Amino acid sequence: MIKMYGIFKHFQDNEVLKEINMEVANREIVAVLGPSGSGKSTLLRCINGLEEISSGRMDVNGIMVDAAAPKKTRQKNVQAIRLQTGMVFQQFNLYPHKTVIDNVIEALITVKKTPKEKAVQKGETLLKRVGLMDKRNVYPSRLSGGQQQRVAIARALAMEPAIMLFDEPTSALDPELVGEVLSVMRELANEGMTMMIVTHEMKFAREVADRILFMADGRIVEDAAPAQFFSSPQSERAKKFLHQVM
Ligand code: ATP
Ligand code: MG
Repeated sequence: MIKMYGIFKHFQDNEVLKEINMEVANREIVAVLGPSGSGKSTLLRCINGLEEISSGRMDVNGIMVDAAAPKKTRQKNVQAIRLQTGMVFQQFNLYPHKTVIDNVIEALITVKKTPKEKAVQKGETLLKRVGLMDKRNVYPSRLSGGQQQRVAIARALAMEPAIMLFDEPTSALDPELVGEVLSVMRELANEGMTMMIVTHEMKFAREVADRILFMADGRIVEDAAPAQFFSSPQSERAKKFLHQVM
């Protein structure tokens, strides 16, 4: 589903991703862990084209982006990849002046040109799925952080992405609201969605992920099954990290 071959990413002279090689299989749940500044967000942002890769190539759901390809080809492919990937951020980024249902169907209407009636039907199905049908007509400011994040998930799902990318989806939430968002994510995982999740929720990562990617200093330092990673991390970096967070 995702394959990265020798990906580098730098901002000016700051090398942020260093020779990333990895694969995510169809229906796989991969948790990305690592200290602050290790490149986790940049990795996700490169996958969905929010950041341009500096070198290397990657294949996302059959669409190839090669840093060495002509700019036009790259741009076309990155655009195609965006339609295949749903992204959920720490900050929910809902449109404050649109109701919940209008937030969910916005991209369906503007990007996919779905007829309004059909988009609304789909939006309502998704709101039921995240348990927020009763909030259909309210504005985001009237929702709790957990509810806003569930709307953001519904909005990403509306585009029928092949892959969902989550960048610390619960980090901005009050502790008592984390569970409701994780449970929506858990359901998605059970339904067979392919997911990459940057998270500090170690218990969730351990229970839900098929694999852990541990990043440090721009590299994937460990790529292991959760049971193995949590019980016997191989690198000093991972040992230190786990010591700090557990
Ligand atoms: P955190 O856990 O704090 O979210 P992270 O692992 O997600 O950290 P990144 O946000 O990917 O780390 O950042 C990795 C490095 O890239 C950092 O040194 C950061 O300052 C740098 N960086 C990220 N985005 C940019 C940007 N747009 N311009 C310049 N430098 C950037
Ligand atoms: Mg980050």
